[in-house]
Amino acid sequence: NQNPSDLMNYGKKKSLGGRGRGVNAKFVQPIGQSDNNPSGSTAPAVNPVAAVPSVLPSLAHLDPLMVEQITRESMHKYKTIAWEDVAGLEYAKSTFMETIIHPLQRPDLFKGVRRPPRGVLLFGPPGTGKTLIAKCIASQSRATFFSINPSSLTSKWVGEGEKLVKTLFAVAAAHQPAIIFMDEVDSLLSQRSDNEHESSRRLKNEFFIQLDGAATNEDDNIMIIGATNRPQELDEAVRRRFVRRLYVPLPVTQARQQIITNLLKQVQHSLSDEQIEGLAELTAGYSGADMDSLCRYAAMQPLRSLSSSQIDSIDAQQLPAVTMSDFMSALQHVSKSVSPEDIKRYVSWNEIYGIKY
Ligand code: ADP
Repeated sequence: NQNPSDLMNYGKKKSLGGRGRGVNAKFVQPIGQSDNNPSGSTAPAVNPVAAVPSVLPSLAHLDPLMVEQITRESMHKYKTIAWEDVAGLEYAKSTFMETIIHPLQRPDLFKGVRRPPRGVLLFGPPGTGKTLIAKCIASQSRATFFSINPSSLTSKWVGEGEKLVKTLFAVAAAHQPAIIFMDEVDSLLSQRSDNEHESSRRLKNEFFIQLDGAATNEDDNIMIIGATNRPQELDEAVRRRFVRRLYVPLPVTQARQQIITNLLKQVQHSLSDEQIEGLAELTAGYSGADMDSLCRYAAMQPLRSLSSSQIDSIDAQQLPAVTMSDFMSALQHVSKSVSPEDIKRYVSWNEIYGIKY
């Protein structure tokens, strides 16, 4: 009763139209996106099924159900995220311009010795914008974007993992240029232990074969972006394949200021530029996600002061503005989530294995 879609499902479980059909069943074209996605929440904005996997000859030898599921579950079209929405991280942005955006615009220039590496690893503390930057690349590039979260791969889909990796790369190849974003890559490719399960070893090997193929085949235009909060768990074989290893650190003061400014654009507020600058100073050590929580907490304060009946009747324009004191109480409730010891570990891994900039 296992459903292979869980594997490729981006951090969520949901039922699929394909449930109940055998693996060798004939491919059935889904009727429509909404019919197949009851939650509606992660539905791609485009209908990937329009690509009709069954008519792509390069996919004909593969399990049609798996192809269909990967196509439907992993191909994401995010709402537009601009480079300016990602605060700081200038080096990561310019690396992606050079390795993805420009080569897609001018493949004739970026070939041979100028061909960009196929594997990029983003590592750093949780909540620093690794996923955000991947989504930004997805919306800025014209590549087909596959987003997979393999955390359940080794535990739940042991037998199918190898086949899924093979199918994923085949589907990506059929939709080139393609970007495969793999969150929590450590859960898939962590160091081999003695008691490692045979099928998870096979899965990893398959992943390496596919990555190596994508890296060496000049005609392949598939890019793999891995993200991890635990780079220490990746062994030499994995590091070697992710040629560019980019540290995504906590936001610096200016980036924190930008995050506050961006989020405050959505509400009425009375904070001066100096106050926002002061807040950015006060939040040293906060991650981007912590900053997000802080601003959300502060933004809720004007609503918290209202009674239920006021909330019921108040005109949105008349809501009290968010003030500096709302942020001061938010600071009491939202603290930083990454410890200095954690940072030290990332910094020392970066010194040994990261790209220097
Ligand atoms: P990660 O993948 O590194 O764990 P995410 O990219 O999922 O972190 O970040 C979580 C949230 O935190 C984002 O959706 C965004 O709201 C906020 N955030 C994190 N980093 C940044 C950043 N550099 N600029 C703007 N917002 C950020």
